[in-house]
Amino acid sequence: MQNFFFHNPTKLYFGQGQLSNLENELDQYGPNILLVYGGGSIKKSGLYDQVIGLLKKANKQIFELSGVEPNPRATTARKGIDICKKEKIDFILAVGGGSTIDCTKAIAAGAQSEADIWDIVTKKVHIDEALPFGTVLTLAATGSEMNSGSVITNWETKEKHGWGSPYTYPQFSILDPDFTKTVPRDQTIYGIVDIMSHALEHYFHHEDNTLLQDRMVEGILLTVIETAPKLLENLESTKHRTTILYNGTMALNGMVNMGYHGDWATHNLEHAVSAVHDIPHGGGLAILFPHWMEYVIDENPARFKKLAIRVFGVNPEGKTDKEVGLEGVKKLREFWNSIGAPSRLADYDIDADSIDAMAARTVTARSEFGNFKKLNREDAEKIYQRSL
Ligand code: NAP
Ligand code: FE
Repeated sequence: MQNFFFHNPTKLYFGQGQLSNLENELDQYGPNILLVYGGGSIKKSGLYDQVIGLLKKANKQIFELSGVEPNPRATTARKGIDICKKEKIDFILAVGGGSTIDCTKAIAAGAQSEADIWDIVTKKVHIDEALPFGTVLTLAATGSEMNSGSVITNWETKEKHGWGSPYTYPQFSILDPDFTKTVPRDQTIYGIVDIMSHALEHYFHHEDNTLLQDRMVEGILLTVIETAPKLLENLESTKHRTTILYNGTMALNGMVNMGYHGDWATHNLEHAVSAVHDIPHGGGLAILFPHWMEYVIDENPARFKKLAIRVFGVNPEGKTDKEVGLEGVKKLREFWNSIGAPSRLADYDIDADSIDAMAARTVTARSEFGNFKKLNREDAEKIYQRSL
């Protein structure tokens, strides 16, 4: 493993009843709060009323930005940035899933900058400050509640890019499994796939001596595989919602990948699909990940073998590393099928006609992508072709 510096400043409040810490946390900030949320799930669940009650009790002046869309758009972030500048917002509170939190990060950055948010997302402009913000998470998936990353879509140009900065970690995040109990079945499945995909992105690298990191990543995969079917049998199980929620945060808060970089080609491939077709992130990953694995396995079959044996219980006797690895990929695919995740682009009515448009978008930020194996536009076309 490489030398590393690790600092994750986000305070985590985890468990039932933790929303009670909100008032205390907000004490240190000025009165003007921008509350950011999505399409209304928090109103249906009653969480909105709870949060508003606490903000009022804390004597805050509340401004709202609602309607953050799944795959949040730069146009929505701009609306939030305008509110922040006009109303002199002191603190932003995101209440929702990864999209609401990612949009909030863009607002926090844009509010303290003269640059357009798309120039920040595409890294033409680097920020050196952001408004402080906190989150109340309602969906276990992205890890955005405890990392500095954000993924924003430009719907006009049909581009979707990830970006981040040292200034876009939440000050605090409140994670109560009860708030995730209303997540519908399909979104629960997408979240499970996203969490596993973050673990898988970490797993594929060429660094040696990552023994503990490997075990931690395998631990996340094994725990999610063990828990997901039980949760899907009872979506209101506190125990299983808690397990998945904790895994979601741990999979992408920097704790399991210290000292090395994972691959991340599949996330880039997926962002290009949802940029063009606006599909759920986890749905796209479930389709693409097994195909990426089969496409790149020759890069280091032993790595795939390790995953297959340790996570999917494949018996290696009498088989080559590649055969064992491919059996692991098959088991991953079977697992995702068994929980109801999509397996083909056709499941979202995506056909060969859009391969060119999607592949073009995998290389708008750079000509090659992926760390385990460098891929180019032609590789992207081939992986999409296999995924049809
Ligand atoms: P999401 O897009 O935030 O939410 C998906 C849907 O679930 C929305 O319709 C939302 O409804 C609903 N929902 C959320 N919480 C709910 C609840 N408690 N009850 C009922 N419905 C609920 O989903 P996500 O998977 O968390 O975020 C996906 C985005 O994050 C994608 O753009 C992806 O690319 C990005 N991402 C970011 C990172 C990162 O590190 N920053 C990592 C991976 C992916 P409402 O809108 O009505 O609330
Ligand atoms: Fe993801």
